Amino acid sequence: MDTIEHGPDSGPITQAPPQQPTFTISERSEQFRRLHFGDVTPDQWNDWHWQLQNRLRDKEHLERVFHLSDDEQRTIDRIGGRLAVGITPYYASLMDPDDPMDPLRRTMVPVAEEFFQSAGEAEDPLGEDAASPVPGIVHRYPDRVLFLVTSFCAVYCRYCTRARLVSHTGEYHFNQAQYEKALAYVREHSEIRDVLISGGDPLTMGDERLDWILTRLRAIPHVEFVRIGSKVPVSLPQRITPGFLSMIRKHRVWISIHFMHGNEVTPEVHEACGKLADAGIPLGSQTVLCKGVNDDVLTMKRLVHGLLKARVRPYYLYQCDPIIGSAHLRTPVEKGLEIIQGLRGHTTGYAVPTFVVDAPGGGGKIPLYPDMVAGREGDFVLLRNYAGKIFRYPDPAPAPAQVTA
Ligand code: SF4
Repeated sequence: MDTIEHGPDSGPITQAPPQQPTFTISERSEQFRRLHFGDVTPDQWNDWHWQLQNRLRDKEHLERVFHLSDDEQRTIDRIGGRLAVGITPYYASLMDPDDPMDPLRRTMVPVAEEFFQSAGEAEDPLGEDAASPVPGIVHRYPDRVLFLVTSFCAVYCRYCTRARLVSHTGEYHFNQAQYEKALAYVREHSEIRDVLISGGDPLTMGDERLDWILTRLRAIPHVEFVRIGSKVPVSLPQRITPGFLSMIRKHRVWISIHFMHGNEVTPEVHEACGKLADAGIPLGSQTVLCKGVNDDVLTMKRLVHGLLKARVRPYYLYQCDPIIGSAHLRTPVEKGLEIIQGLRGHTTGYAVPTFVVDAPGGGGKIPLYPDMVAGREGDFVLLRNYAGKIFRYPDPAPAPAQVTA
């Protein structure tokens, strides 16, 4: 402690040295905290429970930090029982307060187009409910299942495939009895070697509950591989606490993190992902291609380069699922191919995600690739490189079958 003199009549008093914040606070977020949450200490700001309790949930909250457009104001008033609004103060600090077209703001603040249903849109476009043998389990692929453990998220993405169930809008209940039934299903199906824990966002659950679920899953001999899907390291990086890390490292899970834009790759996110990587957790990203958010090559390149620096491997780039009211966020399928074409060969191979369309009606993920085979010339196959130039590769055509009399 430093000792300072306080004046002629007062004796020396002691003053604690300024406390180091328990987690990085970037300059941008610190300015936002001082401006909008001046009475909140850095320690409170870094407390993930405080962030969750103080999410921006309604017009009054949003108006505190954003200049809302007329459309945003009207839509928030009408949102009713639909996908709720929820933005952690930290995540809001990454958005432009004056621009409704700010990429992250577009993904979080509802607009009137959410109320229009276009052709081909559905509440459950992937047919997950039909592939659910017990509540909370989606069993579509032969050797793996999706295990939905919560309907709660730190933030609510306007394009969410599970908008029907997250934010407590649907009739989905997650409780101990349901977890037991889901675990029993996995236990009884020895073909299941891979479990993806999702929701909602599993990392919004307390350490103890998550530990309970993971311990039980890990006790099933045929479950070899456990993944967690989460946006929390992006929307609530303060959640990655020492206690969480010591719990999660013992379960040997992989984490798929939902990133959308380079603006998300902040010092806080570097710290969260760095700690996860140091704890031995392999990290991959999942990104949804959205109009006006990340639908051009330069924006995507900035994101994937940022991810590699944060030790996150870009994994999937998803075509936006046709949930009801998503037309304003969806891009043509060609846009995804164009982005992959603009990345493949133009940058590090590790930085290039796989572009997939999750087939409506339960067809599963279908990867799409730009066509690099330009044709054939005799015993050569013609290949197109990243720059569009054609090269010949020796590839003798199979000999015709012998015809015997
Ligand atoms: S974090 Fe994931 S589950 Fe939650 S709203 Fe966003 S996309 Fe949906």
